[in-house]
Amino acid sequence: MGRLFVITLEGRFYRCKHCETHLALSDDILSRSFHCRHGKAYLYDKVVNITEGEKEERMMITGLHTVVDIFCIGCGSIVGWKYEAAHDKTQKYKEGKFILERVKLTGPDGSNYLETQEAQVGGSDLDDA
Ligand SMILES: [Zn+2]
Repeated sequence: MGRLFVITLEGRFYRCKHCETHLALSDDILSRSFHCRHGKAYLYDKVVNITEGEKEERMMITGLHTVVDIFCIGCGSIVGWKYEAAHDKTQKYKEGKFILERVKLTGPDGSNYLETQEAQVGGSDLDDA
């Protein structure tokens, strides 16, 4: 009664570190070279069990993008964002893809990520909000 329908993933997946809701498969990671204000972030082809916020224009390292914040349906915490549109044509590959902030996730092996300083590599984005 009143329970949300939650998709269960199989295999190696990332889950919300607060409520254990499954969010994305390791196999669906497109890039591990993104950054957000909390450190490392991954780009995923698809994620599950999220709701989307309002569209907004956000300036990233790589230019202006139209994004929506995404929230875990289990606990309502913000877990990352989705790229709705990229204004620069070299950034179009991100459209319809999802960023999950690594610090918000528990990894496939049960690992939690602590914020660290790492060299930024190509394809990095920064959430300036
Ligand atoms: Zn959650």
